[in-house]
Amino acid sequence: MPQFRAPIRDFEFILNEVLNVQQYKEKGLKGFEDVDDNLISALLDQGAKLCEEVLFPLNQSGDEQGVSFDKGNVTLPDGFKEAYKTYIESGWTSFTCDPAYGGQGLPEVLNMPIIEMICSANLSFGMTPGLTHGAYNAIYMHGSDEIKQRYLPKMVDGTWSGVMCLTEPQCGTDLGLITTKATPNDDGSYNIDGSKIFISSGEQDATENIIHLVLAKLPDAPDGVKGISLFVVPKMWVNEDGSIGDANGVSCGSIEHKMGIHASPTCVMNYEGAKGYLVGQKHKGLRAMFTMMNEARLYVGIQGLGLAEIAYQNALEYAKERLQGRDLHGPKYPQKKADPLIVHPDIRRMLLIMKSFCEGARMLALQTALKLDVEKRSEDEQEIEQADHFVQLITPILKAYFTDMGHEVANLGMQIYGGHGYIREYGMEQYARDARIAQIYEGANGIQALDLVGRKLPKDTGKYLRSFFHPATEFVAEHRENSDMAEFTKGLHTALKNAQQASLWVAANGMGDPNEAAAASVDYLKLMAIAVMAYMWAQMALAAQKGIKENSSDSEFYEAKLDTARFFMKKVVPTQYGLLATIVEGAKPVMAARL
Ligand SMILES: Cc1cc2nc3c(=O)[nH]c(=O)nc-3n(C[C@H](O)[C@H](O)[C@H](O)COP(=O)(O)OP(=O)(O)OC[C@H]3O[C@@H](n4cnc5c(N)ncnc54)[C@H](O)[C@@H]3O)c2cc1C
Repeated sequence: MPQFRAPIRDFEFILNEVLNVQQYKEKGLKGFEDVDDNLISALLDQGAKLCEEVLFPLNQSGDEQGVSFDKGNVTLPDGFKEAYKTYIESGWTSFTCDPAYGGQGLPEVLNMPIIEMICSANLSFGMTPGLTHGAYNAIYMHGSDEIKQRYLPKMVDGTWSGVMCLTEPQCGTDLGLITTKATPNDDGSYNIDGSKIFISSGEQDATENIIHLVLAKLPDAPDGVKGISLFVVPKMWVNEDGSIGDANGVSCGSIEHKMGIHASPTCVMNYEGAKGYLVGQKHKGLRAMFTMMNEARLYVGIQGLGLAEIAYQNALEYAKERLQGRDLHGPKYPQKKADPLIVHPDIRRMLLIMKSFCEGARMLALQTALKLDVEKRSEDEQEIEQADHFVQLITPILKAYFTDMGHEVANLGMQIYGGHGYIREYGMEQYARDARIAQIYEGANGIQALDLVGRKLPKDTGKYLRSFFHPATEFVAEHRENSDMAEFTKGLHTALKNAQQASLWVAANGMGDPNEAAAASVDYLKLMAIAVMAYMWAQMALAAQKGIKENSSDSEFYEAKLDTARFFMKKVVPTQYGLLATIVEGAKPVMAARL
């Protein structure tokens, strides 16, 4: 049976010792008023308890049982409804939400660890609250005051859920092709008619109402993506006083049978004269949806990290216990019939790829969440702008790299278990199955790479890029003379040099022919991600060295951090060379080849 232990020490290391989030309390950043060591540790402990004791025990059973469908009703696996009740009663849905609607207004950077733990413990469970938060954001940012008052409080307290309804059979990536119609009524509402597919949590039995955010076209809509509008369409009508009225023409036609996340319903949703209200401006729905989706992309990235973490934890334990073969230098445990797997270089290589990804990615997730807090809550224009540029650049990188690596790490976990990883009993194959979808939804990873080379890289002659390159280059300059840091600054310097070279190549060649940028995009995104991760590892190495000097009782933790930083700099950073070589070969071998 797999196990899950929340990586509390690692969260505390990053929050307290690397990012020092407490400094934002002194700086007076909204939401940080009560942030201190005690609050951080209490939140992490409570989140860990929920994930370890309530959500994780339902993960394998939920996968085995799956969701069921009967005459339009969807039933979640045993225990999920009760777990959801526990989850909302503990106030987790309101964590970062605006107090004006019943939220706690706490920082994103403290919410991020909870999200990661949920993704490790039970990814399917996390889908409903995750999507509700996305829908909350869309209404919060673009809805009228009346719509906000009517819908947000119940979404914030979790009594109602929210879902995102974009995809139709003929369109996923290219939303300009949608055919769902919105017909205006005299009272300012709209009738929505059409069908959506693949709607996660479109129907389920854990909440009293489901608030659908639906993309549809008005009769006078221009063709393509410029003609899409966003509507809030409740499953059960919501009266002006907030009470629930009649059924609203929203029904679930069927659910999909799929590779992973079996405990998350993926629904065909039909809207037949369903009444809804416009959110934001007419024909500007995609823009409204995208402001929200950018944040949702970060959270999908965390799904990759969460699954990677649990795959790593279990693979590590297994590698320490499973006896096979002997150490190549001679028996390490001569009293045993064989040595444990962990003595073998290839097993160690796989474990270190897993570990260096999880810990580096955790640091990037938290640093990005902190930038989001600054962007949303600071009053300093320059600080807001810099934070925004960083988040804009990192979003496609984090979404695609974390989810690609999430799947790779889950596969490595399975490999370490050998045949025992492929069978169900040990739980490893579930992580590989569950991880796969995160590479596809919320903008498939190829689309993230196009966003990086098409929008983020060229933006105002590289202003988004500078939000990363400048501080990372300054870090190298600042610590160049520190001999303890030499191996880490050297690794980071190399990573930055490769990333700069690749950026220049893509910018120069992409300008003349967009196929050049597009053909290079996926390799470029990975190369950039490695550079960003190297910056994360260099910052952690610095904090670990400080820790060794100031807190010798925990030196094991800090030394292990340095070992992993070393592995990343020496074994992962050099993989950039292969990516760079591929990039500069250009688009011709791709575009001119006969298929
Ligand atoms: C389990 C599950 C849950 C989902 N949940 C939701 C949900 O809650 N709400 C919702 O609205 N949707 C949801 N989706 C839909 C999901 O977001 C889409 O499947 C995804 O956006 C891809 O669209 P598609 O499947 O139509 O593939 P397509 O758009 O047909 O793309 C196929 C492939 O072609 C690539 N491609 C497409 N266009 C281009 C291009 N211009 N350049 C280069 N490559 C391109 C894509 O990257 C992809 O690899 C879900 C899907 C699944 C399977």
